[in-house]
Amino acid sequence: MSQSLLYHAFGVREGYEYRSTKYVEGRVEFHLTVKEESIHCPHCESQEYWRRGKRQRRINTLPIGPKQVVLVVEVPKCECRGCGKSFEHSPPLPLPTVTTAAPWLDSSAS
Ligand SMILES: [Zn+2]
Repeated sequence: MSQSLLYHAFGVREGYEYRSTKYVEGRVEFHLTVKEESIHCPHCESQEYWRRGKRQRRINTLPIGPKQVVLVVEVPKCECRGCGKSFEHSPPLPLPTVTTAAPWLDSSAS
């Protein structure tokens, strides 16, 4: 799987970097990280910060054939050097809606 597939099929664009694909229990997981250069403080716009760990966001997206697809996004936790506030950086992921494909998805919806 390539970054361009993620761009075109799943709407993953600005601010993210593709890392790897994993196949887990019938699921396909695309692992993404936030681009370092896109990180900035939302309070004062500073790009000077300390990293304070990270968390994972898991986002279900459109399936590929019968396989469920999950975007696993690493969200960095940061502390601004400018204003001292803590923030997380997770640019929006403009995901396509389910109605554009995959009619079988409805049957598995909860
Ligand atoms: Zn700041």
